[in-house]
Amino acid sequence: MKSRKLLMIPGPIEFEPEVLQAIGAPTTSHVATNFINSFGNCLEMMREVWQSPTGQPFIIAGSGTLAMDMAAVNLIEPNDNVLVLSTGYFGERYAEIVKRYGANVTILTTEPGNTIALEKIENELSTKDYKLLTITHVDTSTGVLVNPEPITKLAQKYNTLSILDGVCSVAGEEIKQDEWGIDVVLTASQKAIGVPPGLALLMASKKAMAVFKNRKAPVQNYYADFTNWLPIMQAYENRNPSYFGTPPVNLIAGLEISLKQIVDEGINNRFARHKKIGTAFRQAMLAIGMKLLPNHKNNSANTLTATYYPNNINGADFLKQIGNNNVIIAGGLLPSHKTQYFRVGHMGSVNSNDILATIGAIESSLIACKFQYEQGIGIKTALNIINT
Ligand SMILES: *Cc1c(COP(=O)(O)O)cnc(C)c1O
Repeated sequence: MKSRKLLMIPGPIEFEPEVLQAIGAPTTSHVATNFINSFGNCLEMMREVWQSPTGQPFIIAGSGTLAMDMAAVNLIEPNDNVLVLSTGYFGERYAEIVKRYGANVTILTTEPGNTIALEKIENELSTKDYKLLTITHVDTSTGVLVNPEPITKLAQKYNTLSILDGVCSVAGEEIKQDEWGIDVVLTASQKAIGVPPGLALLMASKKAMAVFKNRKAPVQNYYADFTNWLPIMQAYENRNPSYFGTPPVNLIAGLEISLKQIVDEGINNRFARHKKIGTAFRQAMLAIGMKLLPNHKNNSANTLTATYYPNNINGADFLKQIGNNNVIIAGGLLPSHKTQYFRVGHMGSVNSNDILATIGAIESSLIACKFQYEQGIGIKTALNIINT
């Protein structure tokens, strides 16, 4: 297919054919035995992928924003103190969400490309009683990766709940929910989980469920209320029929296949594959002579890369050339820097051929835009890393 376009944006991504086939099968009843079994299998496999044997999984029709909304609305009561750690666009979104539910929000931010210093977080936690804090694991607007473990350990020290927005990280970046003591880890299907858009996925700790059960004020959203969904998740896990809102039957058939592929690959092998591909892609961009948004390799995501356009290259022209070269990538998302950089997703079923094709399209486009550099150096650098 000479005009097939490779989709390399940070979600939706390229999906495995077996996943798409499962979604294309005839729709069954949401109380059919086979479907109940598939749903139950998904809940069980989520615990493996999240590395949370004690967690309570939720699978709900909706996007990642619903998952963020659900975690917030079920844990927050009016006037609770909430600390939002923002490393970009999705951190800002979390602040908007928690404000909506009547929390007193404090937001810690940094220059784009940086992470927030631990001392700064601890200082803030020691000033008042924070009910919860939110972390964006990988902010998809900047490609910045945050190490959640030291932050969630601090949260435990101050008796503060933690929510990890893992929409661009679950099944791509290492997460050990139970060991790291994270109270909610949430994601959406269309990113590293590898299923078309439409599923919000959450895992709540025992402590988060206890805090939810002890709330005084009713949950300020009917559809998102755990009270409605917990019995449904428990019924599916016990392989019993139940109903609250019709589940997206076909997407869940796809989720069962994708989670099985993830578990079969081995979660640690999967993280290693993302790390190798992410490193190869970043090093290729640097070798070409471009700058990355993240200011250090330790806070560079392995699921996507945000790269500044070279000086004197017009971003719109460059993106058009990439499209002509049959690869689809994304422009900038951070409002203050939107026209200065582009983003490439490399997560889920991504393989080394996909990134070589993408680097090839980037090199061809730079040549078309008359950028001076050592042609082929990006491909060569990536090949060296892939083959070590
Ligand atoms: C994509 C993304 C979201 C939003 O997910 P939607 O499915 O678009 O609602 C939230 N947080 C992060 C980190 C994301 O990458």
